[in-house]
Amino acid sequence: MTKWADLHIHTYYSDSTSSPEEVVADAIKAELACIAITDHDVIDGIEPVMAAAKSHGLEVIPGIELSSELNGKDIHILGYGFNYKKSPLVDKLVAIQEARMERIKKMIEKLKGLGVDNITFEEVAKKTHSNAVGRPHLAAALVEKGWASSIKAAFDKYIGEGGPAYFTKYNQTPYEAIELITNSGGVAVMAHPMHTQKDELIAPMVKAGLGGLEVYYPNCSETVVKFYKNLAKKHQILATGGSDAHGAAKTHTYVGKTQIPYELVEELKKRMNK
Ligand code: AMP
Ligand code: ZN
Ligand code: FE
Ligand code: FE
Repeated sequence: MTKWADLHIHTYYSDSTSSPEEVVADAIKAELACIAITDHDVIDGIEPVMAAAKSHGLEVIPGIELSSELNGKDIHILGYGFNYKKSPLVDKLVAIQEARMERIKKMIEKLKGLGVDNITFEEVAKKTHSNAVGRPHLAAALVEKGWASSIKAAFDKYIGEGGPAYFTKYNQTPYEAIELITNSGGVAVMAHPMHTQKDELIAPMVKAGLGGLEVYYPNCSETVVKFYKNLAKKHQILATGGSDAHGAAKTHTYVGKTQIPYELVEELKKRMNK
């Protein structure tokens, strides 16, 4: 029987609403053999999910989704199988999360200048279970206080890229993110290339050590999947995939919505810790 995996899942340690127990319950329901936890710029969810998964025989691969930026464009780099206890990546996350918190404070200040005067950093920070606070949490506060009718509206009106209360994030290039993951024993994979639309960066990123492309992703046509599958093959890097589940925070996807055969996980594991 073919075993299946979902290698892109968020928890409430970043911007999903799901607890570790909920993620594991969803994975069991979807009959997955393996999942990877890939929170934005934070690893706090890895061990709780591993603990919750243990009695179910569900395999959990340690992961992360690192933010990076090049010429003003947000590029997400997934990392798999790095040393999540002690590594350059673990050390660097302290500064990255500090910058995330400072950035939200700056956006709250910008909002004040726009008349949005009743949002505090503390209430935004409470929306996640770690230091990895982000714009989705600020957007939720804007909706709760009636400044926007939906999360999307909050992004469109205030905090979307280039919006009046937008503030750029911790500046690391995708090349630096790839090196950080690789130097920590992990495999770096470009997340959702079909949405990032920066295919011209794939060749230089492969040179910097990129080990894979996230070929399988929810709501993609066969043509798109085939295109990135061929691109991965051309560069002799892996094809990975996952749902990008965020619990109730993203209703168009869920754990197991995208599944990949376990053979691809085996390929990935061969490249870890090298
Ligand atoms: P941050 O990492 O704090 O910059 O937040 C980025 C996250 O915000 C992304 O991963 C998306 O989930 C979400 N996001 C970005 N743009 C939008 C948008 N226009 N509408 C809704 N969510 C968005
Ligand atoms: Zn997210
Ligand atoms: Fe992403
Ligand atoms: Fe994601």
